[in-house]
Amino acid sequence: MQGIPDTIKLFNFSKKGLNFSHIYQVKDFPRMKKLLSNIDDEMKVELSFYIENNSIPCIEGVVKLNAMVNCQRCLNKVNLRLSPSFKLGFLKNEQQGETLDSSFETILNADEAFSTIEFITDEVLISIPMSPMHPHKCQSYQDKERIKQEKHNPFAILKQLKNSHK
Ligand SMILES: [Zn+2]
Repeated sequence: MQGIPDTIKLFNFSKKGLNFSHIYQVKDFPRMKKLLSNIDDEMKVELSFYIENNSIPCIEGVVKLNAMVNCQRCLNKVNLRLSPSFKLGFLKNEQQGETLDSSFETILNADEAFSTIEFITDEVLISIPMSPMHPHKCQSYQDKERIKQEKHNPFAILKQLKNSHK
């Protein structure tokens, strides 16, 4: 195992069967830095490169991180433990994909070289739920709004005024 280079060289790494692992911080990933609030937290990444069926470069990997995002029910922070894993086959054409078993996700027309940071970001972002929420039943922010409105109910004030003029 060695640190992960900044640029992935797809065929080059796959032919050599390289394995990498590195501990990043959330803030090393510009697009994630905007979405998550725990930017100093660690993110462990492992990547393996190999050739499948003598011709298809593949990347298998797993990322482990905590993602601090806003709960869509109560709007407070919720900490999600994520460990997205992926198994990708990079194809020259669709026919090539027929030789891969169904455990592979396939990508067409990949470049030979691409950014490691952007590649990992894409894999992590699709693993974050669209509407993250606390696992427990937190209070809906809409209910909280309702309570606030009741407290400031103008009729309640009118009632008070009436009473004070009695
Ligand atoms: Zn919540």
